[in-house]
Amino acid sequence: MSQDSAGTRPRGSGGMLSERYDTALLDLDGVVYRGGDAVPHAVDALAAARKAGMRLAYVTNNALRPPGAVAAHLTELGVPAEAEDVITSAQAVARLIADRLPEGAKVLVIGGEGLRLALRERGLTPVDRADDEPVAVAQGYGGPDMVWRRFWEASAAINRGALWFASNTDLTIPSPLGIVPGNGAAVEVVRIATGAEPEVAGKPLPPMHRETILRTGARRPLVVGDRLDTDIEGAFRGQVDSLLVLTGVTDARQLLAAEPRHRPTYVDADLRGLLRAQPDVADATDATDGTDAADADGGGFACGGWTASARGDVLVLDRAGEGGGDPVDGLRALCAAAWTEAGDGSCGLDAGKALSRLGW
Ligand SMILES: [Mg+2]
Repeated sequence: MSQDSAGTRPRGSGGMLSERYDTALLDLDGVVYRGGDAVPHAVDALAAARKAGMRLAYVTNNALRPPGAVAAHLTELGVPAEAEDVITSAQAVARLIADRLPEGAKVLVIGGEGLRLALRERGLTPVDRADDEPVAVAQGYGGPDMVWRRFWEASAAINRGALWFASNTDLTIPSPLGIVPGNGAAVEVVRIATGAEPEVAGKPLPPMHRETILRTGARRPLVVGDRLDTDIEGAFRGQVDSLLVLTGVTDARQLLAAEPRHRPTYVDADLRGLLRAQPDVADATDATDGTDAADADGGGFACGGWTASARGDVLVLDRAGEGGGDPVDGLRALCAAAWTEAGDGSCGLDAGKALSRLGW
């Protein structure tokens, strides 16, 4: 079954995702690992997807670590990867800058080694001081030890007329201490001192998607992520199908409230979803067990024995037959009810009782 044009329900895939798509473009944090540990089932699921013939590429907004370092970390976790399997926002912003400036142009770096490496790879010349007369400033996450001097130099260069580029604008990032300021916060510091506006490369913006497609050569890519406003929106803008996994920052409530650009093509609990045929969400009136749907305000939706519908200002979930059923099927049906009711907006119906039935 194909997705209806309004994107109002998760789609059925009609076959294993690892066979339907040639390349998985995987986000890292909350998808493959969380901090220092692999996400449950990630290692085995990725090995099986690769065995099924799917190419695996890792796409990260983090510009600090060079691809080789990211690949080494993945390999250590049990996910074998080479540097060329990793695509970073540092690479995306470096290409963006190289497309604008002549070979060898001087670019002031406020950020880490990954950014310097990516600029050199594109034939640009990283410099450190505004007095070096850079024609552009490249800003990426610099890590916890970046000195304040870097903000002085970057701001001075921009105030003297240098173009300003940022790898990404994630305001916060996870750390061993909890949530800490990310590159988006650092960008705000420079914005305060300059009044300028950077050109941004990272997810969900097109330069990152373009870099990923150019580097992987993917013909039927599937974006796999845990964040609606970066991974899923990036896929939406690039007109690529996406799988949301629930192992990271997005919870079921946020998913139900998603507006169209934040709605994934598929939803699954974790990366084992790559090895499944994603089920269809059917109109409940077509389903033999959808007897309650007739009472619903806007029809109902069925998936895996669950039926979801909107009644008044509440999302209602029913289960036909015996047994527990896969809770993700219930969530898929609820997505269809919520997104249909919301149309081009965000669903405001109360889903609390329905989600607690599913254990969320
Ligand atoms: Mg993530």
